[in-house]
Amino acid sequence: MATVPEYFGSLVFDDRVMKSMLTAKVYASLKKTIDEDAALDPSVANAVAEAMKTWAIDHGATHYTHWFQPLTGVTAEKHDSFITPSPDGGVIMEFSGKELIKGEPDASSFPSGGLRATFEARGYTAWDPTSYAFIKDNTLCIPTAFCSFGGEALDKKTPLLRSMEALNKQALRILRLFGHTDVKCVRSEVGPEQEYFLVDRAMYEKRRDLIFTGRTLFGAMPPKGQEMDDHYFGSIKPKVAEYMADLNRELWKLGIFAKTEHNEVAPAQHELAPIFSTTNIATDHNQLMMEIMQKVALRHGLVCLLHEKPFAGVNGSGKHNNWSISTDTGIRLMAPGETPRDNAQFLLFLCAVIKAVDDYQDLLRLAVATAGNDHRLGANEAPPAIISMFIGDELEAVLESIENDTPYKGTERPTMKLGVDVLPEFPRDTTDRNRTSPFAFTGNKFEFRSLGSSNSIACANIMLNAAVAESLRIYADRLEAADDFEATLNSMIKKTIKDHRRIIFNGNGYDESWVKEATEVRGLCNYRTTPDCMPHLLDKKNVEMLTRHGIYNEKELRSRCDIMLENYCKTVKIEANAMVDIARKQILPAVEKYASDVASAAIAKRAVVADLACGYETEIVTKLSYLADQISAKTTALEEALVNLPSGDIIEESYAIRDTILAAMAELRAVADEAEMHTAQEYWPFPTYGDLLFGVK
Ligand code: ADP
Ligand code: MG
Repeated sequence: MATVPEYFGSLVFDDRVMKSMLTAKVYASLKKTIDEDAALDPSVANAVAEAMKTWAIDHGATHYTHWFQPLTGVTAEKHDSFITPSPDGGVIMEFSGKELIKGEPDASSFPSGGLRATFEARGYTAWDPTSYAFIKDNTLCIPTAFCSFGGEALDKKTPLLRSMEALNKQALRILRLFGHTDVKCVRSEVGPEQEYFLVDRAMYEKRRDLIFTGRTLFGAMPPKGQEMDDHYFGSIKPKVAEYMADLNRELWKLGIFAKTEHNEVAPAQHELAPIFSTTNIATDHNQLMMEIMQKVALRHGLVCLLHEKPFAGVNGSGKHNNWSISTDTGIRLMAPGETPRDNAQFLLFLCAVIKAVDDYQDLLRLAVATAGNDHRLGANEAPPAIISMFIGDELEAVLESIENDTPYKGTERPTMKLGVDVLPEFPRDTTDRNRTSPFAFTGNKFEFRSLGSSNSIACANIMLNAAVAESLRIYADRLEAADDFEATLNSMIKKTIKDHRRIIFNGNGYDESWVKEATEVRGLCNYRTTPDCMPHLLDKKNVEMLTRHGIYNEKELRSRCDIMLENYCKTVKIEANAMVDIARKQILPAVEKYASDVASAAIAKRAVVADLACGYETEIVTKLSYLADQISAKTTALEEALVNLPSGDIIEESYAIRDTILAAMAELRAVADEAEMHTAQEYWPFPTYGDLLFGVK
């Protein structure tokens, strides 16, 4: 059997393959595009296409596809085979530079928020040479961006690449001022930790709520939940271990650095973290990883649930987005340096993030907003919907001494003056662990923890890159114009700390008192739901910032706001309809059957002993008849609420869904779950929470 280094990346047209298959000239040209964002030389495209085709066919591929990430949140692909008829009646395998660079999928059904007029339904896909092509299911997959013919982005990759470019541009300006003339490019890097649940496939197939919506819409809590905390980092069950081993193999073949895996807090919950990579690649890999996780699970008789809250009352799943920026020369801009000069630079970048998170709390919040994640943010184990930052006691003390011109405890110097050459050194590893902060500094990176498990990480990183680019732009404007670099730097850092202190919170984010303090004292945003936050995408300050850096134009922003709200409305409506269906066709008949069997038992008993009390039967029948009436009434109420939803204005509709539909769903669920507690197990029409959560051996 091949060893891991032997098969790692074997399905990827990566640097090793390019180097061996392309001429030195073509390779150098392509490499310049990949590493330095240089424009692609069209003449190399044919050579690359030819090499890709040969390599792909050697690896069993018959088809190719432009692999892209439309706004549905999942990836899309349309397969074309390489075959071209030859005059002798056979075929030859062909793939041209033109086919590599540009595709025209008939993609009229992807959401565009009105960007694609119906008469011009097609968009086009464009090769992203910075993310390697790979083979999946005998198909050469070429990572691409997806745009309308007017050039508007219809996907998540295009704005992500634009945001990386904006960050690169502004960070380079700062680095030049610090004397780093050799740096060619600055990149943001991400390691997303992916949480998921595994359930038994046969049980899953009996749950229509899981099939239609990815989460359970009904289900009483089992006698045992996660209260013992015995699952977290617990030993991995054999079936799960086999799954993880198989999954790792598949991911490694695709060049994905799957690294760390462990059981999570909830029963049946697990986590997989890759080694971090450039944001664009990390995003592609995360999409691919989610797909492979689900696919491999089926082979093991399991189903992988990526929903943010598959089980009420049990921990939800998130995706911790570990984010940092570094240069092509290897400088980690989010890590404290060795010298005072490095530290001044680090503090400036740190301040840029602090300012960014405070100024654009709303964008970071809405970048992670979905119907699914609404169940998680603010729930007991998840970071709250309020965005705040944790930077650790050590850094906090450094900032405080700068702000107040007071001595820093870690040094002997009387006062802390922030000059490039007089900044005291402070310990490198300055972080404490604070698991409750939505945005935590963890030594050499920030961990943004509000992302939902099923979300593409693109949106969060677009906003993060954009907001930090904006801070850096403002800093660079001032520093470039400054007569006295050190004094300006000093006062800018001081001002940032003063102005944005409110966003830093080192306490317990799950505490009720925090919500009060954050909103009433500090004036931070607390957008609890998707409809609450999404419209802020179009706030003047946000439109100005995002258009200034060329990340979105105004039309794109409008369409995205619409699409995100539409997704929210559709998701909840599907859930509501599924509830009505399940209540009517499965739960009510089961409850009725059980109640009537119990009633028949009482009648049968009384036929033997006429004056039997049958207290037990009477109680059950009374209780279940009452609950059945309630379930029926609340099902009807939910149906009526659905019919009465306003139409026409998507914001109005989303408010109505937030206020009426979700409430009606909760009411129906409460009575149905109570009925479950009183119904004999063999009558209940589908596997229970206990079955699902503890069913994988
Ligand atoms: P945790 O204790 O949160 O699991 P780890 O150190 O294991 O922390 O890191 C979790 C994730 O963060 C991994 O995906 C890892 O590759 C990534 N990571 C580590 N360093 C960086 C960095 N400098 N920039 C971005 N991501 C990073
Ligand atoms: Mg982590």
